[in-house]
Amino acid sequence: MSFAIEHLGNNLWRGKFSTFTEDICQHGFSARLGGISVQPYKGLNMALHVGDEADIVWENRKRFFQALGLKAEKLVTPQQVHGAAIQRVTSADAGRGAKDYADAIADTDALITNEPGLPLMLCFADCVPVIFLDPEKKAVGIAHAGWKGTVAQIARDTVLRMQAEFASEPADILAGIGPSIGPCCFAVGEDVAEKFRTVFSSYADGIIMQQAGQYYVNLWEANRQQLLAAGLAKEHIEMADTCTDCQHQWFYSYRADSGQTGRMAAIIALNQY
Ligand SMILES: [Zn+2]
Repeated sequence: MSFAIEHLGNNLWRGKFSTFTEDICQHGFSARLGGISVQPYKGLNMALHVGDEADIVWENRKRFFQALGLKAEKLVTPQQVHGAAIQRVTSADAGRGAKDYADAIADTDALITNEPGLPLMLCFADCVPVIFLDPEKKAVGIAHAGWKGTVAQIARDTVLRMQAEFASEPADILAGIGPSIGPCCFAVGEDVAEKFRTVFSSYADGIIMQQAGQYYVNLWEANRQQLLAAGLAKEHIEMADTCTDCQHQWFYSYRADSGQTGRMAAIIALNQY
C-alpha cells in the first residue's frame, strides 16, 4: 500500500494509490504543475468556479485527462457546496460540468457510478478528497470532505449509498484519502473543535490536538475512523499523508495561497471494456 506522485509527461503529475489497480479503474489527484493558467491560478487549475478563464480550464482538463487515458468530454462534476448530498450518475450525465459550470450537478459533494468509462471529478484546495472502488460489484465513488463534510460524515454516507445502489459490501470497498490539509496545518477555533468532539466523541483524542493554546484537527483520521465504522477493512483504506499546505509547491492550497487560488482535481473512472 502506498501513495506516490507519478510523472505523466509534459510536466503533468498525478498522485496515485497502489491499491486502485489499473485493470479495473483509472484515478488520479492532479498536481498544480503543468497547465496554462496564469496567476493567481498559475499552473493546472482544474476548476471553472474560481474566476479563471473557461477556455484555459478546459485546456488544462483536456491535457490532464488525456494523460490519464480518459476523455475530458465525458467527465461529470458537481457544484460543490460543502454539503452532504450524494448523487448517483449515469452515462446520461456524461459531460455535465465539463465545459460549463452552469450545467454541473447542483448542490452535490459526492458522486457514485457503476457505469464504465464515466470519469467522476471533484475539485479541491485543502479539503479532503476521498475516492472509492468496489472491485467486486464494479462501482466507484468520490467525496468532498472539507471540515463540514467530514463532520457530516459524507465519506461514511458515500459507502452506505454504494451499498444501497450497487449492493456493495463495505468489506470489499477500497478507499483512498488524498492530498489535503494535514493535522500539522489545520488550525481551528474552539467552535469547530467542539463539533468534532461531539460527532467523533469515542475517538476525539486522535482527531483533536491542542498545541500552545491552538486547536488542530486531523481530518484524515476523522475520515478514516468513519470509514472503519462503516465496515471498511483497515487494510483497504489508503492515506496519502500529504499536506497540501506544507506541499503547496505541488498542490493548490487555499490556506497557503491566502484564499485566491486554483483547484486540483480528484478523478476516478471505471475502465471501459
Ligand atoms: Zn501541513
